[in-house]
Amino acid sequence: MAIRNVEGTRDLLPAEAEYWDCFKGTAARIFGLYGYRPIDTPMIELTELFVRGIGEATDVVSKEMFTAISGENLKRLLDGETLKSKSRISMRPEGTAGVVRAAVQHDLVPQGAPSAKLMYAGPMFRAERPQRGRQRQFNQVGVECLGADDPTIDAEAIIMLMRFFEEIGIPSSEMRLLVNSMGCDKCRPAYRQLVLDYMLQHESKFCDTCHARMEMNPLRAFDCKNEECAHLMEDAPKITDHLCEDCREHYSKVKELLKGSGVTFAEDSSLVRGLDYYTRTVFEVQVDNGKRSQSAIGGGGRYDKLAEEVGGRPMSGFGFALGYERCVLTLQELGMEFPERSGCQVFVACATDDARQAAFELSQLCRDEGVACELDHQGRSLKSQFKLADKLGAQVAVILGADEMSQGLVKLRNMDSHEERLVPTAEAVSEIKQIL
Ligand code: AMP
Repeated sequence: MAIRNVEGTRDLLPAEAEYWDCFKGTAARIFGLYGYRPIDTPMIELTELFVRGIGEATDVVSKEMFTAISGENLKRLLDGETLKSKSRISMRPEGTAGVVRAAVQHDLVPQGAPSAKLMYAGPMFRAERPQRGRQRQFNQVGVECLGADDPTIDAEAIIMLMRFFEEIGIPSSEMRLLVNSMGCDKCRPAYRQLVLDYMLQHESKFCDTCHARMEMNPLRAFDCKNEECAHLMEDAPKITDHLCEDCREHYSKVKELLKGSGVTFAEDSSLVRGLDYYTRTVFEVQVDNGKRSQSAIGGGGRYDKLAEEVGGRPMSGFGFALGYERCVLTLQELGMEFPERSGCQVFVACATDDARQAAFELSQLCRDEGVACELDHQGRSLKSQFKLADKLGAQVAVILGADEMSQGLVKLRNMDSHEERLVPTAEAVSEIKQIL
């Protein structure tokens, strides 16, 4: 049996791969208007970065991380050795930790400097159970704004993301923006205790996973997919009733700025997001495609403690990531098809086998002049070469016939109008360029 791709991965075939390039281009253009510049960090990082940054108790780190082991280290492990921390490597499950690590390592936000606005695009890896819209390798586009804690940063980035979604063709009426505040070091510990107390009061009704969450991070219970737990958590204390003065003010300002910009949103105090590093603002953009678990097309929030967690000095941060594949699923549900673009402007056809060398050379001249050109590589008849030219969407066909060539001429055929004329071979490329 022919070997197939790994479960939970997808091939981006040419039409989609071209679309993915456009998608990234649109993101770079829109995010660029807001001052974001590209950064590209490795797909592998030390496991410790994710353990310390994202949090050991999160599903992403505790269950879903792919570990990268070289053959040599695998042998060591099988021999019962433990690996040095510099050999413990994981495939990145998300982009923020790596970008913050790079910003700390390269001092991208020196003291007193303006904030660094960074964007990335590329694959992330999570060992989740594959299903529609949930893959093991998927593409994210994300931004991180480092070094500023003003609520204008939060609001600006959220507005920017909503603009991007609209630009790629998801109407605002199809999206639901949910926002919440997760509080900070000052107010969250007390709130966390309140949630734990609440959960302990109903201890026997919670699932096994939530029991583990009680010990590690009770707030994670808000994310539980078990119906009974979800139902119980509806009556749990709400973070927004327990924010400290500073967090309350920060959150109000974010909401005010969103409203002022005409962005519609709903508050959802159960929105805790799956990663430990969030403080204050968190948000998620959902579309209606049935199950909630796969309806999130993007989300993010503020992470003012992350830089310290990974060993840097304090540095505020705000970021989001959007899922490319989920956007595509949404757009396809709205009727989008990947545009089939023609990469061929000119087709050089040969009437005789003797003309093959000349056709080969003429096609090179076209390309040197920036004209996309194709020719037959499979010994087709002239008739099937025309068919191929049509299929490739060529606007002009050049026909090299024995008689014409002996007079130093080639025939140009306008594929739309079928008009033909003879031109000197030496002028063929400039004549073609005039037609295009
Ligand atoms: P997260 O880092 O979990 O907040 O994810 C940000 C976005 O990435 C989500 O809103 C999804 O659109 C997308 N995403 C997350 N996990 C997956 C996955 N396993 N497969 C496809 N897309 C995903």
